[in-house]
Amino acid sequence: MIEIDGLTKRYGGTTVVDAVDLRVPTGSITAIVGTSGSGKSTLLRMINRLVEPSAGTVRIDGRLTTEEPAHALRRRIGYVIQGNGLFPHRTVAENIATVPRMLGWSDVRIAARIEQLLLLFGLDPQIHAQRLPAELSGGQQQRVGVARALAAGPSVLLMDEPFGALDPIIRAKAQTDLRAIQQQLKTTIVIVTHDMDEAFLLADRIAVLDNGRLLQYDKPTRLLTAPASAQVSALTGTADRALRLLSLDTVMVAMAPGHADGLQLSASMSLRDALSALIWAGVRAATVCGADGEVVGQVTLEAILARGAAHQ
Ligand code: ADP
Ligand code: MG
Repeated sequence: MIEIDGLTKRYGGTTVVDAVDLRVPTGSITAIVGTSGSGKSTLLRMINRLVEPSAGTVRIDGRLTTEEPAHALRRRIGYVIQGNGLFPHRTVAENIATVPRMLGWSDVRIAARIEQLLLLFGLDPQIHAQRLPAELSGGQQQRVGVARALAAGPSVLLMDEPFGALDPIIRAKAQTDLRAIQQQLKTTIVIVTHDMDEAFLLADRIAVLDNGRLLQYDKPTRLLTAPASAQVSALTGTADRALRLLSLDTVMVAMAPGHADGLQLSASMSLRDALSALIWAGVRAATVCGADGEVVGQVTLEAILARGAAHQ
């Protein structure tokens, strides 16, 4: 768990992060959102002391981050920035080995870790380990950047707009991959993004910052159905909030017994995609299939409408 209390940063007379309190549960993903200049990066960088707070405290698993030197703290916390920050003249393997080497791991242990991480990120160790970053695609470079940050098995991973430079299709893949890897490794992740769709896709909780102040810290559904202020609604977007709400649930939760003629949908599909499929097919109901293609029930337009409404 990351416990942030009264965290504040001032530059001269300007307060850019203003007395923020935040609890990030172990193994969860928190997204920090807000307009440009709202203090997102500064808040994130105070967690690993790349920026020293003017006031307030950060505890990780109960321990104050000021109890050890900043460089030692940063070896225990993964950090990923936009454009991946890889060393251009070092191979992929050497890049991933950076922190394990600083920590004095043996060559055998480092080699095993490199292979394990490359496989986890869908890269072939035989092909990619000895390449230079420039010899990889943008999406592959980004994956190596995340692999490097995770090399020494940190319990906390900080990410500052990590996918900002990727094109939309690669970006969507990077997001779903991150979610899958996080579920496997149980890393606690804090990710800064100005992309609200990314926040809603990835986060268990979203922190909304404005002018250095925390407006709301809540589950994605709560931000939509119980925004703390009109400002929060404006930032999360009101035009498509019903669809956002539907994107957070799967067909499974709106399913009823029975079956429908024609259209078949997967139980794991989001309700947003299911609604789109129903409209496209021009039907009011579809049969729902499980992972093995077996019929498990049906989903109707009415059931989806009920889930997309604010009073749910
Ligand atoms: P965000 O990541 O949300 O875009 P930042 O945390 O980078 O915002 O910056 C918040 C505010 O703090 C901005 O107004 C920025 O200009 C200011 N700021 C950031 N770093 C410094 C610095 N080193 N010195 C002075 N002002 C800074
Ligand atoms: Mg920033």
